[in-house]
Amino acid sequence: MGNRELMEMLDRQIRLRGIGDSRVWKAFEMVDRANFVPESEKDYAYQDRPLSIGYGQTTSQPAMIAEMLAELEIGEGEKVLEVGAGSGYLLALLYRLGANPYGIERIEELASRINGHLEKEKIPTLPIRTGDGSIGWQEEAPFDKIIISAASQIVPPELTDQLRPGGTMVAPIGNKSLQRLTVIRKDKDGNITVEQKTLCVFVPLVMNTVI
Ligand code: SAH
Repeated sequence: MGNRELMEMLDRQIRLRGIGDSRVWKAFEMVDRANFVPESEKDYAYQDRPLSIGYGQTTSQPAMIAEMLAELEIGEGEKVLEVGAGSGYLLALLYRLGANPYGIERIEELASRINGHLEKEKIPTLPIRTGDGSIGWQEEAPFDKIIISAASQIVPPELTDQLRPGGTMVAPIGNKSLQRLTVIRKDKDGNITVEQKTLCVFVPLVMNTVI
């Protein structure tokens, strides 16, 4: 893509800071973030900060997404679930990384726009479900990788259950104002290990499920 501003964003904010890896950078080059934000935010599409997507929600900072994607080491054809799909920007990056992405978004208005955004990127319709993603997508489980794109105090147990042995999940875990990007790995025997990475700030994961 010959978009100079997009290339500058990638160089200054992601590549030169050593965030992510060359496969992730290639995916970023292929997706125009301007196609995922409302008209009023398009001028800022190449800034490394979260952007409003309406309904009090934001699409995450590109550098943070690059870090999440690099942690996951997405492989060709892997089944990947994103909880909190928002604008669909991260789903588009997953698709360009060769994954088979699934998205759950609780706000109907946002969920219904995702495939329109993807169409602008010439990406085929992806499976998107409206609802509370903290309980995962049982019918489609297990997933090779899971991304939670909203902040939670805990890793929802249903999502850990729906992770394939050998799979990895990334999630911002912490309180409402500050979280740590957390990498959850399930080994071949089903044992879970948890590793905490950088500090981050995400919009909250809203759980409807009352236990
Ligand atoms: N990666 C997205 C980020 C969207 S922000 C993008 O690139 O646009 C996080 C999203 O999580 C918001 O749209 C919010 O509505 C959604 N969300 C919050 N709680 C949720 C839940 N329990 N299930 C599904 N989506 C949820």
